[in-house]
Amino acid sequence: MKIAVLSGKGGTGKTTVTSNFAVNIKNSISIDSDVEEPNLHIFMDMKNSAFESVYTLYPSIDKDLCSLCGRCGDFCNYHAVIPAKNQVIVFKESCHDCGGCKLVCPNGAITYKKREIGQIFSGRSKYNTQLSYGLLNIGEMSGVKIIDQLKQSNDSDQNIIFIDSPPGTSCATVAAVEDADYAVIVSEPTPFGVSDMKMVVEMLRQMKIPFGLVINKAGLGDEEIYHYCRDENIEILGEIPFDKRIAELYADGKIFSISLPEYKNLFNDIYKNITKGRGTL
Ligand code: SF4
Ligand code: SF4
Repeated sequence: MKIAVLSGKGGTGKTTVTSNFAVNIKNSISIDSDVEEPNLHIFMDMKNSAFESVYTLYPSIDKDLCSLCGRCGDFCNYHAVIPAKNQVIVFKESCHDCGGCKLVCPNGAITYKKREIGQIFSGRSKYNTQLSYGLLNIGEMSGVKIIDQLKQSNDSDQNIIFIDSPPGTSCATVAAVEDADYAVIVSEPTPFGVSDMKMVVEMLRQMKIPFGLVINKAGLGDEEIYHYCRDENIEILGEIPFDKRIAELYADGKIFSISLPEYKNLFNDIYKNITKGRGTL
């Protein structure tokens, strides 16, 4: 079973929720697919990580074969190949590796070269759980390929897989959640939290992925989030109270359900709610 953890914006508690699931739910694997800013491995105290590079392809033009017909430029939606007066200019960072320009070239002038866009790190946590995370190289525009490879290399029917997803509703978020069996939205009970959450709800409904909500810092804001969930028939799976000690543990890179015994069962209870109802569509 794959469970994606996501939020309308960064900093609302996705990694807090994912790390607490990872240490409390038996037989689980955790993946940090927030490849622009991964931090799950810090909370999980990852040991002995191995890494592999992730590559993408970009076109290379054989000037002797190219007739400057312009078809590759007409085809490319991303303006990654632009036929100019004397040569075809390639913007390799803009290429989405679709393979189309080679197919439309009438002269066989296009081949592809590979370049590294990031890495995947895999290992075990201090809590003896398996985890992996991706890291996008600085300056790269899309982490989708890393996310796809990250999920492929952790695909397992035998485990519960928690995916810490990129925030918002970007292509990277869609890539992280698209084959999830269930999604957990994390939101704070503030007007901004509700507003950001609405976009995620809309996206999950379009993708037909069942979901529920975990309210982080419950007690901090107002009642709007409860009214919204009631009106939209969204299940509240559980609430993490606004507790200064949780914030302090987070700042120290610690997992609060381990350090604070009164929260020991919170994530097992949330998980039971997920498996019991299988959420809202
Ligand atoms: S492979 Fe696709 S995205 Fe890349 S340059 Fe060719 S047509 Fe454009
Ligand atoms: S499609 Fe081929 S021949 Fe035409 S401009 Fe592009 S590389 Fe050159």
